Amino acid sequence: MTGPDLLAVCDVCLQLIDDGDGAVWCRPETATPEPPDEGQFLIEELLAAPDTRARWRVTHEECAPGEGYRIAVERIRTWPAYLHWTAHLMGKGWLAGTNWADLILDTLDPASTQPGIRPRTARDLGHRHVGD
Ligand SMILES: [Zn+2]
Repeated sequence: MTGPDLLAVCDVCLQLIDDGDGAVWCRPETATPEPPDEGQFLIEELLAAPDTRARWRVTHEECAPGEGYRIAVERIRTWPAYLHWTAHLMGKGWLAGTNWADLILDTLDPASTQPGIRPRTARDLGHRHVGD
């Protein structure tokens, strides 16, 4: 019996989230609007600009109830499901205003110790360095 490809780790309590107990979620409308254009920005200011994208969260329902766009953890337990959700979300006009790509890249980082969506086994990560 094999388990799921992917584990969900709560970003509040850092414990695994069982099916039915939590979600991957985001409130795209909470993204901070761009600051008003006050003319020429120095490149240093642009580089130092805070990340204003809406952040995807992975939480137990009891730790932080999922709000906005919500994917129940049991619906994103395999690599194909993760990929399918990504294709689905790409049809949403607001996706680029969120950090979905960071969520994916963190999942793919074998050195990451962050909560979020974690592969059950590192053997799935042999495809790295796409585009290098
Ligand atoms: Zn939790």
